[in-house]
Amino acid sequence: MPGAARFAVETPPPADGSTRARTGLLELNHGVVETPQFMPVGTNATVKALDPDEVAAAGATIILANTYHLYLRPGHERIERFGGLHRFMGWNRPILTDSGGFQVVSLGDLRMVDEDGVTFRSHIDGSTHRFTPEHAIAVQESLGSDVAVAFDQPVVPSSPRAVVADATARTHRWAERSLAAHKRTDQALFGIVQGGLDPDLRAESTRVIARLPFDGICIGGLAGDETPEQRDATLDLAVPLLHDDPRPRYLMGLGSPADLLEAVHRGVDLFDSVLPARVARNGQLWIPGGRLNIRNQRHLDDDTPVQDDCPCPLCRRFSRAYLAHLFRADELLGYRLATCHNLTFTLDFMARIRAAIQAGTLPASMPELRLRAGRSSGGAGAVKSA
Ligand SMILES: [Zn+2]
Repeated sequence: MPGAARFAVETPPPADGSTRARTGLLELNHGVVETPQFMPVGTNATVKALDPDEVAAAGATIILANTYHLYLRPGHERIERFGGLHRFMGWNRPILTDSGGFQVVSLGDLRMVDEDGVTFRSHIDGSTHRFTPEHAIAVQESLGSDVAVAFDQPVVPSSPRAVVADATARTHRWAERSLAAHKRTDQALFGIVQGGLDPDLRAESTRVIARLPFDGICIGGLAGDETPEQRDATLDLAVPLLHDDPRPRYLMGLGSPADLLEAVHRGVDLFDSVLPARVARNGQLWIPGGRLNIRNQRHLDDDTPVQDDCPCPLCRRFSRAYLAHLFRADELLGYRLATCHNLTFTLDFMARIRAAIQAGTLPASMPELRLRAGRSSGGAGAVKSA
């Protein structure tokens, strides 16, 4: 619904074409989000292992919650009865809900896609459910997120062209139905571009979705099984088509610092991923220059913090030796502290990227930022003009 989101570009890309990166302010019902920005994922109305104060302390200003999961459990109607998702989970800042399309296709068993919607079985108890564009919007309106997302049919990037073409055309029809169904005036609605890796389909999908009155443009169908080069090429094709478009661009599902940097460079404003939290729970700590595996034997005798200059609760107070012990003992505090650290690192990295864009130094800072992100390989990474 136009009006529930206001996006203003603060630092536009330079005219010399050296980068498409920009900074902006996205004003939503529950607050203002500085872009480029990363959204931690709260799948079940919680960012796993953290309470909302810890999520905010890590630097998060907006989180993503999963419509599919909350619809199945505890149920969107129950959340609505309790005053909506913000109140239910104790998070008073912006929330974006996805449409459920990705989970229906990737998690739902025995899914059947037809023109009207998708029938699937719950991954929790095997019960049968049906999502249509109208229903996906109704569920998100019940949840009361700041940003809802149109129902789409994602496919893995490497799917055959005919499969991508069929799903992309259906996504366009479902985008119009999602728009028609959306009524809440205090909730923004983003549309999703599909088209896989095929240049013609991707370009057509970008044009079709950009013609519709959404509040933002999601770039879907990436962060799958494509190579970084294929992803870069897709962004180099799609983002220039949105050059004069005043709305935020959101690449769904991307999460490693190195990948975030390259996508910002190519003009993306918003991201989400479970990755920083998931790898943290596996004992992988992100630090400047790479990863530290806290399960490694050598950390058991290391009295230094995980990262010297990190303001997170882990690094301020505890040693690598202590965290290594917690992980070996399967202590819950270990998962919580490691998650705090990786989210702090990721959100601080985004702040560094924004500062470089604002200073006009992003192209010159790319080598240093790539180093910090731990990108061990990768080409020149220049933005291709299109
Ligand atoms: Zn830390």
